[in-house]
Amino acid sequence: MKLDNLRKFSAQPESAGEMPVLFLGHGSPMNAIEENEFVSGWKNIAGTLPAPKAILCVSAHWETKGTYVTAMDKPRTIHDFGGFPEELYMVQYPAPGSPELASDIKNLIRKANVGFDERWGLDHGTWSVVKHLFPEANIPVIQLSLDYYQPAQYHYDLARELAPLRKKGILIIGSGNMVHNLGMAAWNRMNDTFGYDWALEASEKMKKYILDGNHSELINYESQGKSFNLAIPTPDHYLPLLYVLALKEENENIALFNDKPVAGSLTMTCVKIG
Ligand code: ZN
Repeated sequence: MKLDNLRKFSAQPESAGEMPVLFLGHGSPMNAIEENEFVSGWKNIAGTLPAPKAILCVSAHWETKGTYVTAMDKPRTIHDFGGFPEELYMVQYPAPGSPELASDIKNLIRKANVGFDERWGLDHGTWSVVKHLFPEANIPVIQLSLDYYQPAQYHYDLARELAPLRKKGILIIGSGNMVHNLGMAAWNRMNDTFGYDWALEASEKMKKYILDGNHSELINYESQGKSFNLAIPTPDHYLPLLYVLALKEENENIALFNDKPVAGSLTMTCVKIG
């Protein structure tokens, strides 16, 4: 059955419409098993999408030296966190992989020599959100890693090369958080929509740049001053946003949702392009 689906995917002519692109602020892994306003936001946005043939997720939680794509038939569900309730470790998201899509991506990307990965799977940056969008786990999901040794411009340029996938019905998701400083998080206020002044300032600036299409300022995030420095202490949760923005074509719609801070130093803001 899966092989049939993959053959169909290959033989599919390009359709006129482009699949939207999503940046999803994933926040706490607990969102995987909770029903809250953010989960509702993810479910609502899923209802606005055409059915994807496959999903490519760039997760904040897979950093490598070099760029890799998961290439196994059956990616495992990785519980890459500690100190959470047993119930969260029981979650499985048994979506198939797609070695064929992995191969297509390797052929598409000129910026890097993309490696095939057989060991990773789906980390919680992917499954904790994708399970809410596509609970049946019947759409193939693969991940693209973040090369931790490369600057923001590299990631943006690499992402642009993924653009043809949108015409082939591939849903590209960046999963991270725009503002993400765990060291300053008020953990006892994880369920409060509250943000420190610097977090709100950074968030407002980011959203203005996104809506204005001012991607160069977002690529040069390290030169944006104190609020950005606090919002992006390490780039892992921010870079997936650049992958998504790089895929925006001229005159495409941008919608923000789940646009709220939590725990002082995180924002859950999500972006839909197209
Ligand atoms: Zn995370």
